[in-house]
Amino acid sequence: MMQQTRIDTGIRYWNAFMERWPTVFDLAKAKEDEVMKAWQGLGYYNRARNLLAAAQTVVDHHGGQFPQTAQALQQLPGVGPYTSAAISSICFGEPVAAVDGNVIRVLSRLFDVNQPVDKPKGRQTINDLAMMLMPKDRPGDHNQGMMELGALVCKPRNPICHACPVSSHCLAREREVQLKRPIKSGKTKIQEMALAFVVLTNGTHVALRQRPKSGIWGGLWTFLEQDQVPEGLGKKRGEVIPEFEHILTHRIMRLSFSLQLWNPSSPSEVAGKLGSAVAWLPWDEAEALALPRAVEKIWPDAVKSARKMYI
Ligand code: SF4
Repeated sequence: MMQQTRIDTGIRYWNAFMERWPTVFDLAKAKEDEVMKAWQGLGYYNRARNLLAAAQTVVDHHGGQFPQTAQALQQLPGVGPYTSAAISSICFGEPVAAVDGNVIRVLSRLFDVNQPVDKPKGRQTINDLAMMLMPKDRPGDHNQGMMELGALVCKPRNPICHACPVSSHCLAREREVQLKRPIKSGKTKIQEMALAFVVLTNGTHVALRQRPKSGIWGGLWTFLEQDQVPEGLGKKRGEVIPEFEHILTHRIMRLSFSLQLWNPSSPSEVAGKLGSAVAWLPWDEAEALALPRAVEKIWPDAVKSARKMYI
């Protein structure tokens, strides 16, 4: 919950989750839609799905007891090497290194690693160095110390070397190459994409569609995309709001929302014209579905525009 989220926001979500699903048994019984709705606004919705699947695995295969080794933890959906090492070292005292971006930076500077750390060989070197430094006692404290050192002292663009507790061991400092480490082979490309949505409504009801599980906003509900609305259906009524950019990690999306008035006579007409995957719901019921942030953001404008058509 806290990743890419402000702590106070994360705490609010955490408290709401714990109140609603106080134990892993309660969460394992929850419906995916409910969990997605409770997660709405935190982004990275795969984590919500994995959280639910992990709770179900813990209940079904571990009798409700959380696995205690990094290796066993990695069998849970959504738990990778970093998370499993962080949990097993901090919660259960297992001496395994938790290597995140901060730790990679610290190690590559401390040992002046001159291989690209985003390639398997360089990454292996970092992992080996991390394990070499790992003490047998207090591995959790050690891992947290490394992470904090990277986050607070050995910062990407302005490392505070004069106040660094390990500066006397730091090869990058000695060689004055701090800012050249870590070496990366290539930058992650920012993708651009455009999505044109149609707010199809008769004023009181609106058409929404659940997106496929994989891909952008997997499993969430959005308005229909332009090519999902048959030609000539209803009347176009202009834009809900001007086109805008919505920025996600590694992705810039240009989004437009146009309004289209359509008066189907029955739900079966909706299914006939738009397919059975489309829900035709009153606005307040539609809002209760799990929506991506961008749709949530323009929701009041969409409702207002739909109402205006009545006046
Ligand atoms: Fe990072 Fe500077 Fe400390 Fe080296 S001395 S680990 S570069 S903060």
